[in-house]
Amino acid sequence: MSGSIRNVIIIGSGPAGYTAGLYTSRAMLEPLMFAGYMSGGQLMLTSDVENFPGYPQGIGGPEMMMHLREQAERFGLEVQDRNVERVDLSNRPFKVYSEGEEYLTHSIIVSTGAESIWLGAEGEEAQKGRGISTCATCDGAFFKDEEILVVGGGDSAMEEATFLTRFASKVTLVHRRDVFRASQVMYERAANHEKIEIKTFRQVKQWLSDDSGLTGAILEDPRDGTTEDIAVTGAFIAIGHKPITGFLDGQLDTDDEGYLLHSEHTMTSVPGVFAAGDVVDTRYKQAITAAGLGCQAAIDCERWLEDNVH
Ligand SMILES: Cc1cc2nc3c(=O)[nH]c(=O)nc-3n(C[C@H](O)[C@H](O)[C@H](O)COP(=O)(O)OP(=O)(O)OC[C@H]3O[C@@H](n4cnc5c(N)ncnc54)[C@H](O)[C@@H]3O)c2cc1C
Repeated sequence: MSGSIRNVIIIGSGPAGYTAGLYTSRAMLEPLMFAGYMSGGQLMLTSDVENFPGYPQGIGGPEMMMHLREQAERFGLEVQDRNVERVDLSNRPFKVYSEGEEYLTHSIIVSTGAESIWLGAEGEEAQKGRGISTCATCDGAFFKDEEILVVGGGDSAMEEATFLTRFASKVTLVHRRDVFRASQVMYERAANHEKIEIKTFRQVKQWLSDDSGLTGAILEDPRDGTTEDIAVTGAFIAIGHKPITGFLDGQLDTDDEGYLLHSEHTMTSVPGVFAAGDVVDTRYKQAITAAGLGCQAAIDCERWLEDNVH
C-alpha cells in the first residue's frame, strides 16, 4: 500500500482533471492525480486552440495543457504520469491500483475523457490534429474556403457536414454503406444543402499529403474494391467516441454508450465517486465544458468530504 488515505484521487489529466486538481488543491485537500500515459489528454493532439477563453491569440494544445498543469501544481497537486489499471469501489476507503501499487482514498474524481474513434487508414497518424480532425466545432474555422471531406453516416456526421458549410467551399460526405444511422431530418438537411455532396459506398483507403499538409484521399468502394481520388485539404472523421471507463469494470452506472451517469450533481452512482469532462458528456465535448465540469466535481467532492469524512 502506498501512503496514508488520500482525500481525493483524480484519474485523468485533461482540462477536467487539471481543473479539478486546481480547485481541490486550493481547498487544501492535497489531491493526487494519475495523469495516465497520455498526460494532458486530447488537446495534446491539436496544434491550435482558439476557443478557450483567456488566450486572445489562440494557443497550442500542448502548451495550454502545460499551463493548466503548472497552475494546479503551484497549489500542491501531486501528479503521477501513470495509468490506473483498476479500482475497487465496493468499500470505503476506495482502492486505486496503479503499476502494482494500491492507493487508498476517501473520494475519487474520474476524468478519463472519451476517445474519438479514428479510421486508422494509411497516412492518418501524421495528419491527426492538422489536416484531419474529429471535432468540427474545434477546427472547422481553420478550413475557410477549402474543400473538406466528412466521414460517417450518423447524426453527428450530418451535423458536422452541415456546420462545416459555414467555412468550406464544398463538403463531401462519404459513408461506407447506403443506409444511414442519422435521423431523416438530419440526413435531409445535409443532403439538400447546396455545398454538400453525399457519396455512398465509399471508405477512405489512404490519406494523401505533401509538405503543405493534407491534399486528399483515395476512396474505395467496399463492394468491389474500385478506387477514386478526391482532392481535399481538410477532413473530419465523425464516426463516434468511446468513453474511457474500462478500468472501472462496470462498478459505476453508465448509459448505453458507456458514458458515466451522474446521480446527484456530479456524483456518480457510488457516493464519493465523482465524474467530469467528456467521460460524462454526450453532447458538448469541449475543453471549456470539460473544465467547467471539473470545477463542479471538485466543489461537490469537497462538500461531500466535509459532510461524510472530516
Ligand atoms: C483533434 C482534436 C482537437 C480538438 N480541439 C479542440 C479545441 O480547439 N477546443 C476545444 O475546446 N476542444 C477541442 N477538442 C476537444 C477537447 O480536447 C476535449 O473536449 C477535452 O480534452 C476533454 O477533456 P477531458 O478532461 O474530459 O478529457 P481528455 O482531454 O480526453 O483527457 C483524458 C485524460 O484521461 C487520462 N486517462 C485515460 N485513462 C486513464 C487511466 N486508466 N488512468 C489514468 N489516466 C487515464 C488520459 O491520459 C488523459 O489525460 C479537440 C479534440 C480533438 C480530438
